[in-house]
Amino acid sequence: MPRTLDDARRWARLGTELLLGAVDTGFDEPSALPGWTRAHLVAHVAANADALLNLVHWAATGEATPMYASPEERARGIERGRALPAAQLTAWLRDSAHALEKGMAALGEAQWRARVVTAQGRTVPATEVPWLRAREVCVHAVDLAATVTFADLPDDFLTALCDDVVAKRSAAPGPAVALRAPTAAWDLPGEGEPTLLTAELPDLAAYLTGRDTGTSAPALGPWL
Ligand code: ZN
Repeated sequence: MPRTLDDARRWARLGTELLLGAVDTGFDEPSALPGWTRAHLVAHVAANADALLNLVHWAATGEATPMYASPEERARGIERGRALPAAQLTAWLRDSAHALEKGMAALGEAQWRARVVTAQGRTVPATEVPWLRAREVCVHAVDLAATVTFADLPDDFLTALCDDVVAKRSAAPGPAVALRAPTAAWDLPGEGEPTLLTAELPDLAAYLTGRDTGTSAPALGPWL
């Protein structure tokens, strides 16, 4: 079943709760992302909410407001944020998430259908914004390397995530992999005879997003 707007909004709220529940300590500890501490990651997620709020503004008003003014501005936001005292950084994460939630709650039906452009240059209806946010908060809650794992994320989210990643990866070169979970299956097209990977859904999601799972299947390149 394809994901709905309500699904994406529910997952975005859930991911925010998971993140906020996991960030109260250890901002200087390494995250699961190479070279990034938890503070980098939290600043990145907070800046992402501000950026997505720009797209919500775009949808609401028709005034073109891109997510980030430039890649440099995006990098500066993370650097500024990670240097904040822990309480202020947590407050930015919480307040930016709430502002985005409020902005989305105010969109009407026609505004949800308005076209906006993502940071990757894709033109999408505003209904994709909650999905972009859900993906960001849920996966980065795991990347925080604190208390949340892929097994803490709901199955319907993980299924939508695997659909999304497989669609993206199918358009790029890579190894062929047949992915089998108890209740779902994906086939990643690619070179050679497909490697069979049988695992639980959370482990397939971890593998597909390029997060370490210790499987014997061939490593995948960056996803986003
Ligand atoms: Zn991110």
